[in-house]
Amino acid sequence: MPAPNAAPHIAGDTVWLTPRQCEMVALAADLGRNRFAPRAALHDREASFPADNYRDLRDSGLLALCIPQDQGGMGGDYTTFMLVAAEIGRHCGATALSYTMHVGATLWTGLVADALQMSSAQRADHEAHRATMRERIVAHGAVYAQPFSEGGAASAGKAPWGTRARRVEGGYVVTGKKLFATLAGAADFYGVLCTLDTPEATQRDTLFLAVPAEAPGLSVCGDWDPLGMRGTVSRNLHLKEVFVRDRGRLLPEGLYFEAAQRFPHMFATLAATYMGIAQAAYDFTVRYLRAELPGMPQVPRRMYPTKQHAVAQMRIMLEQARAMFLQTAREARVDPDADARLRLLASHHTVMENANALCTLAIRTCGGASMLKSLPLERLYRDSRCGSLMLPWTAELCLDQLGRDSLYDSGEGDEAIE
Ligand SMILES: Cc1cc2nc3c(=O)[nH]c(=O)nc-3n(C[C@H](O)[C@H](O)[C@H](O)COP(=O)(O)OP(=O)(O)OC[C@H]3O[C@@H](n4cnc5c(N)ncnc54)[C@H](O)[C@@H]3O)c2cc1C
Repeated sequence: MPAPNAAPHIAGDTVWLTPRQCEMVALAADLGRNRFAPRAALHDREASFPADNYRDLRDSGLLALCIPQDQGGMGGDYTTFMLVAAEIGRHCGATALSYTMHVGATLWTGLVADALQMSSAQRADHEAHRATMRERIVAHGAVYAQPFSEGGAASAGKAPWGTRARRVEGGYVVTGKKLFATLAGAADFYGVLCTLDTPEATQRDTLFLAVPAEAPGLSVCGDWDPLGMRGTVSRNLHLKEVFVRDRGRLLPEGLYFEAAQRFPHMFATLAATYMGIAQAAYDFTVRYLRAELPGMPQVPRRMYPTKQHAVAQMRIMLEQARAMFLQTAREARVDPDADARLRLLASHHTVMENANALCTLAIRTCGGASMLKSLPLERLYRDSRCGSLMLPWTAELCLDQLGRDSLYDSGEGDEAIE
């Protein structure tokens, strides 16, 4: 149950949403509240994958959220996705984060690909490949992961991927290692970024390939016992001479690099989970201070001015994050202008950092009992810590880019300044 005076939806006033968008967000809120929240503590404790939540996502149609309606999906756009993922994140951060990876694969191949220039042969190829992907999701409930990270400069967008794909008859042979692969062992397909193996390959030679989970040479390795986001089961992937058919190509050769440059909002999809966590920390605090949490002593604390000030501060931080989150969700488009790109980085940084700061303040305000493992706040606190660690837009790298791009125009160097 949300706090009595909390926004019923992350969107706040839903007047700007279409009735269809409202339905999809309400569906996510209902699943989150009634199914995912009651299971969250167990998956967190065991660091186990929430397969039960994925059954619900599959049955409700939400796995196909961003697949067009005429192909069996729900037809959600970027904004709808951000609101749906945030609603899920309000109840189970780990489910929201892994869901982001899955829906992200359908967004790259869907609305992002639609906005890119392709030759007619590339377009026909891409249509066929993504039809296969969409059919797998709609008809068979397939889940796609997005293991991009490798632990080097490539993950920060500053070097070619170390995972290499050699072209062979009918497809590619892929070799490499991916770290922190959310959905490891649970996904049906891994959307891997790799470099097409050519002499002097650059980032422009990035390939986006769907590797089937059962492909010979693919293995999940390493243990998983982290601080937070434990239900994402983000173990490592080893790929040793893995054959991937041509139809596993999720974007035409050479187009991932362009997509990443021209559609930067794709990297902000991770913020939705943490927006939900920020809202949850606020909701928890209000209910705690009103002594409305089930199983807790009925001792209200809302009459103390220190508590009221803390909640006021939390509300301000929440509204700052929400305002930026909603604005940038609505601004997502190909080729945003320089101002929108700076706003996007500022928004991403704000959501990630405010989520963790809100959880910290919530614990300080509610006190010792609130960090017991029988209550969700301590899990929210641990999960919230992970947001600003995620590449390519960690808190540090957001600041780096925001500072640099605020002071230098594209291509400009200091020699331009006399
Ligand atoms: C719960 C969880 C789930 C995840 N799921 C996925 C997933 O599904 N797919 C996926 O691809 N990744 C995933 N990741 C990985 C994530 O995006 C990062 O790649 C990972 O957390 C970075 O690990 P690191 O801090 O050890 O990286 P490092 O490369 O050691 O970076 C450490 C810090 O140094 C800074 N830094 C890094 N590179 C540079 C550079 N070139 N220049 C300047 N500063 C730099 C950054 O601020 C970074 O935070 C997940 C991570 C977590 C915590």
